[in-house]
Amino acid sequence: MLNTSSERRKNGSDQTKLVERILDLKRKRNAVILAHNYQIGPIQDLADFVGDSLGLSQAAAKTEADVIVFCGVHFMAETAAILCPDKKVLIPDPHAGCSLSETVTAEQLRRWKSQHPGAVVVAYVNTSAEVKAEADYCCTSSNAVNVVRSIPEDREILFLPDMYLGAYVQKVTGRKLHLWLGECHVHAGILPADIKAIRQRYPAAEFLIHPECGCVTSCMYYMADGDIPSNGTHILSTGGMIKHARRSPAKEFIVATEVGILHRLKKENPDKRFIPVDPEAVCQYMKMITLEKVLTSLEDMVYEVRVPEDIARRARRAIERMLSLA
Ligand code: SF4
Repeated sequence: MLNTSSERRKNGSDQTKLVERILDLKRKRNAVILAHNYQIGPIQDLADFVGDSLGLSQAAAKTEADVIVFCGVHFMAETAAILCPDKKVLIPDPHAGCSLSETVTAEQLRRWKSQHPGAVVVAYVNTSAEVKAEADYCCTSSNAVNVVRSIPEDREILFLPDMYLGAYVQKVTGRKLHLWLGECHVHAGILPADIKAIRQRYPAAEFLIHPECGCVTSCMYYMADGDIPSNGTHILSTGGMIKHARRSPAKEFIVATEVGILHRLKKENPDKRFIPVDPEAVCQYMKMITLEKVLTSLEDMVYEVRVPEDIARRARRAIERMLSLA
């Protein structure tokens, strides 16, 4: 906590110097900095591209830089490493994990598959490279419905690891899916009762749900079930959310996702108000990346994320199918 204005000024000038050193090294290394929407504000401000896991995968696939500094969680950096085998992918903190991706291992998935021979495996992007390598399709919450619809009706489907997204897809498509019982600990706490209460407090506000994080799939599920009213509700990707907030005549928006997204929304729409459903919905893994760690990452070229080629080759097939349906 900074108490005096001189402490705050010093902190501001320290941060400016840190950013200058990062940008200087970034140029020297021919690096690109990718940041997830849930990163802390200073990292988002520094990044060349800010987006969700799908957007970041697409940005990684397109970049001409030699080095990708991935400011996000580990499975996302792995996805970049799979799509860009000729680039060096660095994550500034190797301990930045994801509770949702950790709910299933490749061994568990192999056992599940052996109980359903011939079933098609659809894995949400929040999974490790080993799990993706065992999957037929990768998906995000925005294309999960299309992925499932593209699978012939007579095929059994194993859907993992987010049970809320799976239940939502089941409702929308009318297909019976076998669901893995995983969830994201951060957003498991965003409940219909909280949403109803906040919508009553701000009746004129639009309600925005970001579809890319496993976190908000529970909201999508409750809405499909009728527990959350759908009027004034918009399920949007990050880009869609940013565009929608800019174009909409509404002045207030209730946002149901990790609070990191508010940084960009507020920055781009200073005259509008964004209200988080749960201000405590903070992913501590996402917040592990700091400016100091980004600097160290570029100075020492750490921590490199590598995926063994046999796993990468199989995982790439599932990821490329996801990108083609995005
Ligand atoms: S918010 Fe949840 S799903 Fe997203 S990275 Fe954090 S733990 Fe994983």
